[in-house]
Amino acid sequence: MGVIFKTLYVYIYNLGLAIGDIFSSFARLIGSSVKRFFKFNKSSFSSFKTFFKRSVVFILIFAILVVSGTFLYSNNRKIDAIAIKLNDEIVGYAPTQSDADLAQNLASKYLNLASIDAFSTEEASTEPYNIKNYESLSEMLITKLSPELVKITEIYIDGEYLCAVTDRQNAKHIFTQYLESAKELYPTSSVSFAEEVSFKYAYYNKTDDRIWSSDQLELSLKTLGVLTIRHAECEKTLSTVEFDTVEIQTNTLFVGDARIRRNGQNGTEYAIDLVTYIGDKKVLSEQLMSVSVEKPVSQVVERGIRAESLSLGSYSVLQTTGYFCWPVVGLFTVTSPFGLRSLGNHKGIDISGANASGSLVVAGASGTVTEAGWSTGGYGNYVIIDHGNGIETLYAHMLDNSLMVNAGDIVTKGQAIGRVGNTGYSFGAHLHFEVRVNGNKINPAPYLGLE
Ligand SMILES: [Zn+2]
Repeated sequence: MGVIFKTLYVYIYNLGLAIGDIFSSFARLIGSSVKRFFKFNKSSFSSFKTFFKRSVVFILIFAILVVSGTFLYSNNRKIDAIAIKLNDEIVGYAPTQSDADLAQNLASKYLNLASIDAFSTEEASTEPYNIKNYESLSEMLITKLSPELVKITEIYIDGEYLCAVTDRQNAKHIFTQYLESAKELYPTSSVSFAEEVSFKYAYYNKTDDRIWSSDQLELSLKTLGVLTIRHAECEKTLSTVEFDTVEIQTNTLFVGDARIRRNGQNGTEYAIDLVTYIGDKKVLSEQLMSVSVEKPVSQVVERGIRAESLSLGSYSVLQTTGYFCWPVVGLFTVTSPFGLRSLGNHKGIDISGANASGSLVVAGASGTVTEAGWSTGGYGNYVIIDHGNGIETLYAHMLDNSLMVNAGDIVTKGQAIGRVGNTGYSFGAHLHFEVRVNGNKINPAPYLGLE
């Protein structure tokens, strides 16, 4: 029962104080709003003045009744507590035995004692307001045992001792003010100390000169330079995004050769970074987000996979990965492949390139020339070579007077047989090249290492 009553009394007591606070705040609030109202409506002044006065008086009387009622009620009653004694003299009251023990432990710790010899406790009853928490009780024990000591707060900057102060709240306020003044320098930033400021309770001799006054602390923060300001800014930067390179393989280039098919283009992006400074020095930059303004364009590079060239004295012939060597010297573009096209079914492939006319046409493989001359069927000046095993090749549209072989001649692989021209059914200088197997015109691409 004792514990329940004690709790109830303390509760009612605190409730009384709280109600008092609420009413006084309420009275102030009504006062200020009524005042504001009268600035706009002076004609109603007298009636509101009366109303205001009566309200305030009523509220004040009510608050005084509640506060004094609960106060008197609770203070006229004694409740159970633990009396803390030094040499049998009561120093204070703790709500429970464990609070009393805690108070002794804390006091011993501050005084560097194993325990306090003169300390004892006993059950008692007292008015609620006499009961203190263990921290206050430990302070009472210390000042009783060592009256020359005073409770202070030590201040540490990054773990390094700076000074001691008697008023911790005020010291905190000084640090806050110091930070507030730094905020004015960096109005758009979030501002903090670069150093960690920590506080620790201790007991010093009252005359200890390590105890600083508020003015001393305030001045020292400004002059000693023990604190630096860290501020973080959001910064927007436009940056370049480098293009990447994509490689594709091509039969139209020799191994080891490459050419750019499409130029790469760098892109741009906005980056928003959170940049932290200590003073003016940048210490950290974290990217919060990036927004692409222009995407980069990949560079496309063609890389040759054609086999090495075959040197034949004054010229070089490409040795393809297929059965035949490349039938033209220096021209590598297939301008029209084998198969269906707008001008009908193409029975061979057309090869051309820059300055095509006059380029050497060579035998794809060794064999015997079976036809060499003018075609009435649209081939212009042409040559057919029989390579044995039912395989033949045909070379068409060559320049007039450029044929270097006659029917019956034996030719070797890569041997020149004529020059690229535009004769017969042809629209521009090129070589029309056919491969025939047992008389059937087939796609030459695989025989030239193109597929
Ligand atoms: Zn053709």
